Amino acid sequence: MEKIKMATPLVEMDGDEMTRILWQMIKDELLNPFIELNTEYYDLGLEHRNATDDQVTVDSAEATKKYGVAVKCATITPNAARMDEYDLKEMWKSPNGTIRAILDGTVFRTPIVVKGIEPCVRNWKKPITIARHAYGDVYKGVEMKIPAAGKCELVYTAEDGTEMRETIHNFTGAGIVQGQHNVNASIESFARSCFNYALDQKQDLWFATKDTISKKYDHTFKDIFQEIFDAEYKEKFDAAGIEYFYTLIDDAVARVMKSEGGYIWACKNYDGDVMSDMVSSAFGSLAMMTSVLVSPDGYYEYEAAHGTVQRHYYKHLKGEETSTNSVATIFAWTGALRKRGELDNNQALSDFADKLEKACIATIESGKMTKDLALITSLENVTVLNSENFIKEIRKTLEEIL
Ligand code: NAP
Ligand code: MG
Repeated sequence: MEKIKMATPLVEMDGDEMTRILWQMIKDELLNPFIELNTEYYDLGLEHRNATDDQVTVDSAEATKKYGVAVKCATITPNAARMDEYDLKEMWKSPNGTIRAILDGTVFRTPIVVKGIEPCVRNWKKPITIARHAYGDVYKGVEMKIPAAGKCELVYTAEDGTEMRETIHNFTGAGIVQGQHNVNASIESFARSCFNYALDQKQDLWFATKDTISKKYDHTFKDIFQEIFDAEYKEKFDAAGIEYFYTLIDDAVARVMKSEGGYIWACKNYDGDVMSDMVSSAFGSLAMMTSVLVSPDGYYEYEAAHGTVQRHYYKHLKGEETSTNSVATIFAWTGALRKRGELDNNQALSDFADKLEKACIATIESGKMTKDLALITSLENVTVLNSENFIKEIRKTLEEIL
């Protein structure tokens, strides 16, 4: 078979620890034999970030703006322990945070659904994708402990000095107070990322806030979504046969539990933080969760939702066998390759991405899987494979499909 060619490069962001090991295995076994892989390589491994004063992270994000599509391996976010372990010059920021700040996007997380790994919620048949607004609200909140009786106010001072004032509470004793903000520009780009991604996936978009109680703050989210939808997306949604559905957050939660899945759920920052953990654990395993950053300008960065699987890496370094699940990392590659294929009108590349995903799913459904899945599967007669042999089994299945 002739290898599939790629006209435009993908931005490849390599990473750390166990996922870096898997990254190379995936390329060797599942990509290079079938594709003339055309990537612009950036090493986001912590050692190289440290050597370049983290410039490599910025460069990789800029390259994503140039080429439109990136695939990223999990990376270490340094903490005090990592400062010593890697002898770092500085406690470099989270690469994902840096990339998101440059691309200004929304993160969409989707579970990979396979037979034999059943969601805890019986009626969930299709994946539920969570889109989390990643700016503001309680995450940029300012708080005070109120020691004793006194008055608390919100004060806005315009540039010309005029003031708006609102009493929060007349305290008669000790208490607490919190100030939150968001900005219209961020809500607008969140809305556009969500509408674009819904069109991309041909799935309905749900959005929910508590606008009945929060008549200005949450209501502004509702209004901005509706205005942008009516002005820019209504016709496109009609043409695609999909729906934008707004409801109250408590109603949304109740409906999600009764639904069969298969839609995108846009969440305010806190709701997304909480609900994404609920949805991912209910679908089975963090190792089966994909993640894509979609910018309002139409740049895409694909990755696995899990981290570098440090505990397995240390076993690997000691020469012990590991059984680390590579599926979410493989799906990061297939997501990026399919998008590259779409943008370049390269049908062969998109088809290959589909087939590689099918091969992953078929391999698991035939009972061959890594330990994390073996622990939760409803299948019988399961074969637990190590990291390398699991990828080799996927290759066998892939060769049968191709
Ligand atoms: P983690 O790497 O997601 O792993 C936590 C645990 O979840 C693992 O120890 C393992 O459980 C299980 N797990 C996760 N992925 C798995 C896989 N593919 N196959 C099998 N089991 C899997 O989270 P962490 O240990 O908290 O973080 C490690 C490093 O990753 C940190 O330095 C953190 O900064 C970084 N991180 C990066 C990203 C990112 O780049 N997007 C995201 C999160 C964390 P068992 O040990 O029980 O087998
Ligand atoms: Mg959370």
